Amino acid sequence: ILLNLLSNAVKFTEQGKVKLSCFLKRKEEGREYIGIVCSDTGIGMSEEMKQRLFVDFSQEDESFQRKYGGSGLGLAITNELIKLMNGTIEIESEKNKGTTVTVYLPYQEAKEAQPLVPEQKEIDLSILKQKRILVAEDNQFNRLLLEMIFQKHHFSYSMAMNGIEAVERAEAEDFNIILMDIQMPEMDGIEAMKIIRQKNNKHQALILAVTANAIKEELDDYLQKGFDDYLTKPFDEAQLLNKMIDVFKKKASA
Ligand code: ADP
Repeated sequence: ILLNLLSNAVKFTEQGKVKLSCFLKRKEEGREYIGIVCSDTGIGMSEEMKQRLFVDFSQEDESFQRKYGGSGLGLAITNELIKLMNGTIEIESEKNKGTTVTVYLPYQEAKEAQPLVPEQKEIDLSILKQKRILVAEDNQFNRLLLEMIFQKHHFSYSMAMNGIEAVERAEAEDFNIILMDIQMPEMDGIEAMKIIRQKNNKHQALILAVTANAIKEELDDYLQKGFDDYLTKPFDEAQLLNKMIDVFKKKASA
């Protein structure tokens, strides 16, 4: 929910600020709610857009897809998640002034402190050391997540924000592995992969398709088109690392 609200706020705000505040609010019958307010000074929305916000795949107009990317699915999913938690969401917005989204979620204090991070099995990362990684991803929160993981393990990586940048980076520098988001503005991951494969034959970077697509036939189609493997979103750190290790091992044994 936060990821969706914040990425929209950042995406649609060119000037000014984005503010996130969270607080505990005691409400009727002793029940507590967590309040989350995400406000921005961005482009805002028309009244008509506000009415359609929670409808799947709705965006302000067609040019939004080209300019900002996204699918128009985020808020519809956010709204469903909030409903499942018996919460509420309210959106105030004014064109060219900004948007404020207020979410309330019922909250109950845990009786006993739970460990925050479940224990993880050690993963042998030796095969990934010394490897150069290129990430092509248009969503800045996904980029941030990947950066956090790579920095934690002291991996060497480079970031591209769309297919065109990915092609440029791959031309300028040799990478061992490229994590290629499929749906990106300017140039999608499939086209970028094809160009990199054509231009960069000598080096043969492994190229993984990274996608929210879960349809088996389409995933297989990525392999047909030339990707070495795919990683479906959302993924956690262990799944990402294991997948990368896996493709390097497969390549080594081939
Ligand atoms: P996506 O961002 O993937 O297109 P969302 O469902 O999250 O999908 O948002 C749908 C549409 O709602 C956006 O394309 C945009 O038109 C509008 N929108 C959402 N949040 C904001 C915001 N903070 N400021 C302006 N417009 C917004």
